[in-house]
Amino acid sequence: MPIYTKETISDLIDGKLSWHVLKGIMSSDKDEDRFEKYLEILQERASWQEKILVPIAEHLFVVSKGNDRIVKCECGHEFGDYRINWKLKALIYVRDTEEKLDEIFEGLHKPDKRWSVIREYYCPGCSAQLEVEAVPPGYPILFDFLPDIDGFYDMRPKLKKKILGK
Ligand SMILES: [Zn+2]
Repeated sequence: MPIYTKETISDLIDGKLSWHVLKGIMSSDKDEDRFEKYLEILQERASWQEKILVPIAEHLFVVSKGNDRIVKCECGHEFGDYRINWKLKALIYVRDTEEKLDEIFEGLHKPDKRWSVIREYYCPGCSAQLEVEAVPPGYPILFDFLPDIDGFYDMRPKLKKKILGK
């Protein structure tokens, strides 16, 4: 099983690897400490101190803050309890008119606004686009991911001690 350096994993995150190297990584078994290295890199890049428990989107993480587990953006903006859909506290832009859909779709690729709208979610702290969903008009906001953090770490006792401290 190949072992990749933190530098290689860092380049993987940043999309800097050549196709040849990337293909090698994709085609081989995942090295056992990949997630641990990935977390270390994300933590080193963070401008804040809270420990990252699990990344949940490109700019979002569940972090440990005191006795709480909250969703936090790369920029430091906090969305609160990770069990509550962070999207409810995001800035939301809904593309539900011909004009708004024309800005991102061309011709026949555009969905019929009677059947589908595009919802874009942005961070109130840094304006990064955090998620995009295509749903029927009026459909409830999707809750993408509720990680079983304790279950995940229970399966990895060594990492659990390092990350959760127990
Ligand atoms: Zn942000």
